[in-house]
This record gives sequence, structure tokens and C-alpha cells, in this order.
Amino acid sequence: MSEIFLNLKKHPIVIAIDGTSASGKSTNAKLVAKALGYVYVDTGAMYRTLAWHCLQKRVDVHDAKVVAALCRKWKTSLECVEKNHLRAVHLLVENYFPEQEIRTSEVSAATSVIAAVPKVRDWMKKKQRECIQFGNLVMEGRDIGTNVFPETDFKFYLDAKLEERTARRAADGVHENLAARDLRDSQRASAPLMIALGAKVINNSAMTSEQTSQLLLEEIRRLMPVEK
Ligand code: C5P
Repeated sequence: MSEIFLNLKKHPIVIAIDGTSASGKSTNAKLVAKALGYVYVDTGAMYRTLAWHCLQKRVDVHDAKVVAALCRKWKTSLECVEKNHLRAVHLLVENYFPEQEIRTSEVSAATSVIAAVPKVRDWMKKKQRECIQFGNLVMEGRDIGTNVFPETDFKFYLDAKLEERTARRAADGVHENLAARDLRDSQRASAPLMIALGAKVINNSAMTSEQTSQLLLEEIRRLMPVEK
């Protein structure tokens, strides 16, 4: 397979994986990034980090103006770290990546609220596009194929039945109302969660992550331009 991935340094490739909450985006995006040697970007973690920051600063996450102002002044940096054969981008706040703190259900609920603020989305889009400095990317989120990198030919949309997704989160020890979060993500005015034009939709309710990631990789290989 390596010969078809020869000349990608000149034209970094972005594999966009969007979808509903707990549809397996992170697991599969990581498997695909490892298989291809691409850099993994979890854009949900970026939104979660801002929500966590708002909660830390005791900002009312429902006050869009205050959230936008906090975001505008926010001092962050991007870093690319390698761990377990996976290179991943982290958004640091004062040189700190709040890896565990951003996974609570309180932060999850606050995240889909701050993610609806248009100024926040503009800020995130800019940061997420800056990730291309690290090379070819597998980027997962809600609006990567529709809004962040609409120019990419590699667009995927993952989904699974609500009961299945709820069970997956519960297995990770997280109990939250995924339906409410999906609804907020799909109904917001600014870059809502939707299937990008031309995206391959994969419903993985009855699939393992091995099967899902293999399907993604097959499709990526099929779409990959062959170097002449
Ligand atoms: O993917 P994850 O569950 O970590 O995302 C947390 C929340 O961040 C989502 O429910 C959504 O509100 C927001 N998000 C977004 N756009 C993205 C990624 C995440 O609005 N590209």
C-alpha cells in the first residue's frame, strides 16, 4: 500500500470522520490514523477543553457573549505528541492538556452548549485547520466534512442505534443523555451535525471496531489518488 501514499507531504490529506456521539469516531479514527501513519485530531476534545475552561472560570455557559469573549482571550497552543504508536494533536491550556477532566458528563453537557456559539466555532475552525502543520490528518468531529475541511475527498459519517451508543458510553462508566446532546448538535444554527455531501455513511450498530476501521481503510484506499 505504501506506494500509493508516496507523495502526500506535498498535499496533506485530511480524512474527515463525523458522526453522532458514541458512534465510534474516536476508536476508529485512531485505528485508521495508526494504520496510515497519519496524525489523529479529536476536535471534540478541543470543544470540551473550552467548556472545561468556562466551568473552571465559573462562566455561565448559556451566556453566548461571555463565552465568546472568554474564547477570544483564551491562551492556548497546539502540540503533536506520540504515544503507543499514535501521533495526536492536543490543545494545551497554559501548557496543560486536561485529558481526564474533559470527560465528565458535566463537561459533556456544557460542551454542546458552548459549541453552538458561532464565535467559538470560528475560533475552533481556525485552530483545527492549523493542525495541517503536523502533516496528513485523521480528524474526527461533527462538522469536519461540512465546515472545517469541506475540500477533502475523504468524508465519512458514523452512526449507530441510540441504545447501542448509550451502552457503549455506559461501558466506559459515563451515563449521559446522548439523544439530548445529538439534538443540540443537529439543531444549532452554526455548522450543525449533518452528513456532508458525498460522505460515506457507516452504521456500525452491529459491527466491531475492527470491521468498521477495515471498511474505512478500504474506502480510503479506493479514493486515494495514485501517484504517476
Ligand atoms: O466528540 P465528543 O463527544 O467529544 O464531542 C463533544 C461535543 O463537542 C459534541 O457533542 C459537540 O457539541 C461538540 N463538537 C462540535 N463539533 C466538533 C466536535 C465536537 O460541535 N467538530
